[in-house]
Amino acid sequence: MSRVNWNFENTYFNLPESFKEDINPVPVKNPDLVVFNEGLASELNLNFSNIDKFELSKIFSGNLLPEGSNSIAQAYAGHQFGHFTMLGDGRAVLIGEHTTKSNEKYDIQFKGSGKTAFSRNGDGRAALGPMLREYIISEAMNGLKIPTTRSLAVVKTGEKIQRETALQGAILTRVASSHIRVGTFQYIAARQKENELKILLDYTIERHYPEIKNSNNQALDLLNLLIDRQSNLVVNWMRVGFIHGVMNTDNMTISGETIDYGPCAFMDSYDPKTVFSSIDQMGRYAYCNQPVITKWNLARFAECLVPLIDKDQDKAIKIATEKINSFEKKYEEKWMNMMRDKLGLFGLEDKDKFLILDLLTWMHEKKADYTNTFCHLMDLTPKKDTLFDDNDFMNWKKRWKERLSKNNNSPNKYLELMKNNNPLVIPRNHKVEEALESAEKNDFKPLNQLVEILKDPYSQKDNIFNYQIPSNSVEKYQTFCGT
Ligand code: AMP
Ligand code: MG
Repeated sequence: MSRVNWNFENTYFNLPESFKEDINPVPVKNPDLVVFNEGLASELNLNFSNIDKFELSKIFSGNLLPEGSNSIAQAYAGHQFGHFTMLGDGRAVLIGEHTTKSNEKYDIQFKGSGKTAFSRNGDGRAALGPMLREYIISEAMNGLKIPTTRSLAVVKTGEKIQRETALQGAILTRVASSHIRVGTFQYIAARQKENELKILLDYTIERHYPEIKNSNNQALDLLNLLIDRQSNLVVNWMRVGFIHGVMNTDNMTISGETIDYGPCAFMDSYDPKTVFSSIDQMGRYAYCNQPVITKWNLARFAECLVPLIDKDQDKAIKIATEKINSFEKKYEEKWMNMMRDKLGLFGLEDKDKFLILDLLTWMHEKKADYTNTFCHLMDLTPKKDTLFDDNDFMNWKKRWKERLSKNNNSPNKYLELMKNNNPLVIPRNHKVEEALESAEKNDFKPLNQLVEILKDPYSQKDNIFNYQIPSNSVEKYQTFCGT
């Protein structure tokens, strides 16, 4: 029995049979803990101080389960690149919901834990590289103050898994405020049992949105709240140049946390069409398409809720459509405000949009680094770049300075606003690759250093220079799905 002070409940386990499969993680041969997130453990009020690495390895591989554990694989569906599929946790198991001292509830899930009823043709396993990648990027997102699932540990399984070549197997412990996805609603809605849909709705509201518990149209209110959460999330992604890469509806949470770090990556030089994922040939999930896809996914969510919005189907569809169509306006407003923050602008001025778009156009034309351009504007540039001596840029800067002087602004005020919104470091692609390559050879120092730097990406520090410069490689960076 594991001696971790989990404070487990299994509320999802208690939902109807159709929502999940009751299953334990499949034990692994030779578990070896390679990364452990002490900061997160303490945020969760978990105490591992009396437990040695040998036992921790057993715990975070699922070989040693907590007493009375009721682990499950969750059922869900999803539109993958636009096509509807019945899915589910094909390689993950939820071992329980841990409640912290401040009464916050988190799913504790093992990813890469073996086959389940939802594995289809997969082996239920995960490779070390992609699990470490998820660890790095999800923790980076948390440092960037963007809602995300977290990563508590990575264990090597001591087993080889077969992909294009034989790879080291690994299990990631993922922590999430829940794993309920748009795809979870799609799965239940596809079964066409209204009572089950109502159960999922009630569960979701209880868990994430208790403020609408007593409202007279909970389904509609939930739709509204999700439109709000997801538009905030995608605006945050746009702010830091994050490209998720696989925004299928099964990878969109109802909590509004970023989930499923597969082929994601951060943009270096500004190009709205940037795509990193090797499988996204059409650019469906390109940087500039992320808000469009967010709306598309929200429309799929709205479809699930139709029977609960109004008994009169036509009326329900009309109401839901109106809500979905409000997305663009909401998004645009949030995006404008986000860009104003990045530029240190207070208040709203008529010409703000031109000012913002003209900068982006210049960045695109000159292939300027997205992150470092804002560093330059804050006078925190990692190194002098002659790119900014350009006349067009100087003229733009003059307009920006004029705009800055409006609405009681002052250098102190605008710099503070800018510093809170413009990261100095992001997980640069070559730095992530370097960390993963070393880790593959059992050297975890570069990875730990990278994760440490990314914890506090908004502060100027002496040791960040090496992490700020984009790769000078001319080769196009490509990512692969996290399998
Ligand atoms: P993802 O692309 O990670 O969002 O996964 C999409 C679906 O494929 C989910 O249902 C996963 O559980 C499933 N899946 C991915 N990799 C595997 C695997 N190695 N074995 C079984 N199922 C998998
Ligand atoms: Mg997924």
